[in-house]
Amino acid sequence: MDILFCSSEAYPLIKTGGLADVSGSLPKALLQLEHDIRLVLPAYPAAIQQAEGLKEVSRLTLSGCDDPVRILRSQLPDSAVPLYLVDAPSLFNRLGNPYVQADGSDWPDNAQRFALFARACVALALGQADPAWRPQVVHCNDWQTGLVPVLLSQEAQRPATLFSIHNLSYQGLFPAATMKALELPDTLWSIDGLEFYNMLSFIKGGIANADWVTTVSPTYATEICEEEFGYGLEGLLQYRSDRLTGILNGIDADIWNPAADRWIARRYDVHTLQNKLFNKFTLQRDHDLPISSQPMLLGYVGRLVSQKGVDLVLDIIDTLLEQPVQLVMLGSGDPALEEQLQAAARRYPKQLSVTVGYDEQAAHRIEAGADALLMPSRYEPCGLNQMYSQLYGTVPIVRRTGGLADTVVDFNEQTLGDHSATGFCFDEDSPEALLATCLGALNLFRNDRVDWWKLVIAGMHRDFSWTSSAARYSELYKQVIQHPGEESRTTSLDRPTGTSRASSAQQTGQRLH
Ligand code: ADP
Repeated sequence: MDILFCSSEAYPLIKTGGLADVSGSLPKALLQLEHDIRLVLPAYPAAIQQAEGLKEVSRLTLSGCDDPVRILRSQLPDSAVPLYLVDAPSLFNRLGNPYVQADGSDWPDNAQRFALFARACVALALGQADPAWRPQVVHCNDWQTGLVPVLLSQEAQRPATLFSIHNLSYQGLFPAATMKALELPDTLWSIDGLEFYNMLSFIKGGIANADWVTTVSPTYATEICEEEFGYGLEGLLQYRSDRLTGILNGIDADIWNPAADRWIARRYDVHTLQNKLFNKFTLQRDHDLPISSQPMLLGYVGRLVSQKGVDLVLDIIDTLLEQPVQLVMLGSGDPALEEQLQAAARRYPKQLSVTVGYDEQAAHRIEAGADALLMPSRYEPCGLNQMYSQLYGTVPIVRRTGGLADTVVDFNEQTLGDHSATGFCFDEDSPEALLATCLGALNLFRNDRVDWWKLVIAGMHRDFSWTSSAARYSELYKQVIQHPGEESRTTSLDRPTGTSRASSAQQTGQRLH
């Protein structure tokens, strides 16, 4: 099949989170299934720098950009995946994060930027940007590409569309007046169109208009149909549930493999686990912590936001660090949480290291050197670090939600007996539950090393490759090509009675974008 994969980030060109990992690895897996899959991204400076042999394919005049937009062609680095870059310098030639400015606030013209990107994707989808190629299906990802299925739904002859939700709390919400600024047809401004509580919602456009909707784990697919995780879109998602599928993300074993990882101090596999201890010592040295095998070394890699339960970690830090425990944290996000963590690190210089920033190599070294990984997320569409950590023999401690529930097997008598246990799970969104689970893990680590190693080894044997998930996407592409859905599925069910978007957001402590 001929597939256009639209994304606002892809590893290694540009990455802010899991979407980049998926966009960098799923197309590679689909290419191995012999599909003609091509990736399209905005031409950020980082992407232009890394993409080799860029060639101009066409120049387009698109609404929303005064200058002609160049469509460039190259390849995703370290792969054979064809890559298109949408070069509109006035919108994308900006250093740093693709969505926010240096002070952490959104770029004020994000609606214009991603509407333009969507229009370029549509041109590619209709064979207007690369006359030599016309896809049968367009796979869109997250709100940044939400307008693609909307614009394509206005076309008589269009390819099939699939829209993947990687995180429903990031919605691409803009003031109502943006509709006009983006020159979107007035007919789309209604509760049955793009309107969401008097705001323009990009993500709603994708969910309502795509022929099929997927999300990144089976449990999250169920959760987003409920009020707590649906952010006001649960009614629409319930309505679309006959065409809503949760497919677990895979991971790129070329990049996340302790036996071949170029960034870790010493490579290892299940037969050379003594090298993992060397990585632990290196991690302790890197972070100025006392070098010793004795304490349980916990790792955390990820955004420092309430979604990830970072405030729960802060709540238990004093009690937890009364124990022989060290904690190395890497991430960035909410400035208040960053500051509180750094203050805690000053109180416990021998046990707690907090690095605020983004560092790919350090992330690999934490996965390799830590004994256990903390991931107490309030919600987690899929989560990747808990999968990486299992393959690195680093036992995950997670809240049982979304993809965490689908990928970590909780330690208990039965799962230990059948060798399926790979980590520790808790249910309640509370510091007490997190602390109790950490102490349970510590108890096993200190007092029953044989059972601890069983968890380590079971995790390292897990198969989190893309093989089965890429095959499932393949099946869905085939199905939507053969049976595209109705043109528009939007429904007023997105306003369930008695629910306000704000109250739903408050319950999960999230901010809506
Ligand atoms: P999310 O997409 O919600 O941020 P995921 O677990 O799905 O979370 O993916 C996060 C990805 O980003 C992982 O590959 C993780 O290693 C990486 N990552 C997050 N924060 C950092 C950081 N500060 N430095 C390096 N890598 C990071």
